[in-house]
Amino acid sequence: MSAYQIRESKRARRIRLQVTVNDGLVVVAPKGVRPEEVDILVRSQHQWINRALKKLSDRKQYLDRQFGEGPPTTISLPALNKIWRVSYFVNTSLAAGWDVSAHNSLNIYSEPAKAQIVIDKWLTSVAREHLQNELSSLGKKTGLSFKRMQIRAQKSRWGSYSARGTISLNRNILFFQPAVVEYLLIHELCHTKHMNHSRDFWQLVETFCPDYRALDKSLKEAWRLLPPWSVK
Ligand SMILES: [Zn+2]
Repeated sequence: MSAYQIRESKRARRIRLQVTVNDGLVVVAPKGVRPEEVDILVRSQHQWINRALKKLSDRKQYLDRQFGEGPPTTISLPALNKIWRVSYFVNTSLAAGWDVSAHNSLNIYSEPAKAQIVIDKWLTSVAREHLQNELSSLGKKTGLSFKRMQIRAQKSRWGSYSARGTISLNRNILFFQPAVVEYLLIHELCHTKHMNHSRDFWQLVETFCPDYRALDKSLKEAWRLLPPWSVK
């Protein structure tokens, strides 16, 4: 049985379970509750508890990474099959910015507090160039055309298409494998023919990307592939 602590509450009418980052499993119970009663409830709810604790530990790991790390010293972009070594230069006489020297060394010029902003700009510019190229060549290959592409930095929306002909892509898809990126681009290109997720739409996707089901499914947990610093 899971370990837990009991918190007696004057306001509690009945026994309630909660799971928190700091305390794990907490049983909130009316004053004077009998311990056996709590035991029975905890035992009967073990499935819910295990699920909740698992979710919590995932979340905790994620938060630890997010706050435990400083600015990245390497950045890996699987979509491009490239890894950059990142160096930081503090030189207040230079305008904030970056350059890329030999062997994928990314140099960030900025005061430390603003380094993140510079890295964000760099990542967006890499995304714009790479995804524009990919989208154009896939557009030619599929015969599907779009007017404009724009890069966004959203939490978990990877792409979208507007009736005006603009394909929006999340720059963070650069952290995905090339096959996933290709599927995402084909998906948005197919929306230029079908503005919905109808059967016709998926059939069109399938003609260009037979493996689309598995690739689409892989996106469910895809946020885990993003380094914390890239997530807004
Ligand atoms: Zn769609």
